[in-house]
Amino acid sequence: MAMETALARASMDKVDRRDPKKVYHLTDRAGLKRTAPHFHWDTYFTEVGAPGVQTINVLVPGFFTAMDRLISQPGKLNDVKTYLRWKTVEAAAQTLGKAFVEESFRLTKALTGAKAILPRWKRCAQMTDQALGEALGRSFVITTIGDEGKAIAKDMIEGIEGAFERNLARVDWMDDAARAASKEKLRKINNKVGYPDRWRDYSTMSIGKESLLANVAEAARFETQRDLDKIGKPVDRNEFGMTPPTVNAYYNPSMNEMVFLAGIMQAPFFKTDAPEEANYGGLGMVMGHELTHGFDDQGRQFDGNGNLNEWWSSGVSDAFKERAECVAKQYDGYIAVDDVKLNGHLTLGENIADIGGLKLALAALRQKHGGQLDAKTEQDFFVAFAQGWCTNQRPESARLQAQTNPHSTSQWRVNGPVSDNPDFAKAFSCQAGAPMAPQNRCTVW
Ligand SMILES: [Zn+2]
Repeated sequence: MAMETALARASMDKVDRRDPKKVYHLTDRAGLKRTAPHFHWDTYFTEVGAPGVQTINVLVPGFFTAMDRLISQPGKLNDVKTYLRWKTVEAAAQTLGKAFVEESFRLTKALTGAKAILPRWKRCAQMTDQALGEALGRSFVITTIGDEGKAIAKDMIEGIEGAFERNLARVDWMDDAARAASKEKLRKINNKVGYPDRWRDYSTMSIGKESLLANVAEAARFETQRDLDKIGKPVDRNEFGMTPPTVNAYYNPSMNEMVFLAGIMQAPFFKTDAPEEANYGGLGMVMGHELTHGFDDQGRQFDGNGNLNEWWSSGVSDAFKERAECVAKQYDGYIAVDDVKLNGHLTLGENIADIGGLKLALAALRQKHGGQLDAKTEQDFFVAFAQGWCTNQRPESARLQAQTNPHSTSQWRVNGPVSDNPDFAKAFSCQAGAPMAPQNRCTVW
């Protein structure tokens, strides 16, 4: 516990870690040795199978300095050994049998308020997804999205990108240079839908029926090797960072790409035969959300080629920050549970993306219908959006999420963006000054 606490104290704050410049410290082997001289780096790199590595980005140098101090203190060797044994058992707990699984669940229970462990089949499916995600995904996509779904999604992305471009002309805090550069970045975004063009080859992974622990260890070995093999080679732009069955999507700033997994191309987010307004309120909003990430407080620091680069003037950057602060303040005021409020700066990027994404999805839907929708269709769009976040959450889980997760709790992922959206107030005839029609709204994008 003392070791874990000391390491936690030396870790960088979650809000600071969101700043790409604060986690960028390129160094070489000599620099690494200066940061943590007591750690046997040469042995380490040889043992992990990457003896030749020379250039390293140390995300948080202060962490390694503290770690070095801890391991070099006289009389601490036994503590270090105990700590490493504990980390090993903790990491393997799910594969070591009932007693370990139940003990591990006791901690989950305390943190999340969960009353029962997930059924065995769900845990098995999760572990298979983790170990062999693209093998599982290959079967998964056959029964889910298909070519028709992929084509509709691609058409929707084009519509969302068009809405972003039209909106750029109306963003009054930008100058023409920033507007043109943003257009350029938009044009360069690479979109991936559903599943990769080339599937991962698992033929060098050996899975058997004797030991779950051995299988999980083998999958970890395979993944580590796959990652190490990338060193010194060109970036593989085909690669997916999440498995196809995952109900999620992401924007990756250093690749300037949006990725929508097959898992999120299902109800309640998307159905090939659902009314358009339901698909736009669901998946369309997710597309707008990911696109806006390319221009949120993190994404805006990367240019169209994915390089960390100042590509706006300082005046435009300051204007952006001022508008982003409005969003941070707004969400700082939201209560997640009891006396725990959201952290407006931890959740800033996600909230900017939620507010922007909802606007883009509605704009794209309107554009498809000649620029106008009837009131009922607009209401249905907003209802579909809100249904995507319908959830049951225990207070312990809401507390944990508010304190550690960059995503706001579901209630505020709905009420935040709609209160910033004048079209919502109009569609539902909210009186001025009502919670969903506040006097002052935050607008970034
Ligand atoms: Zn997001």
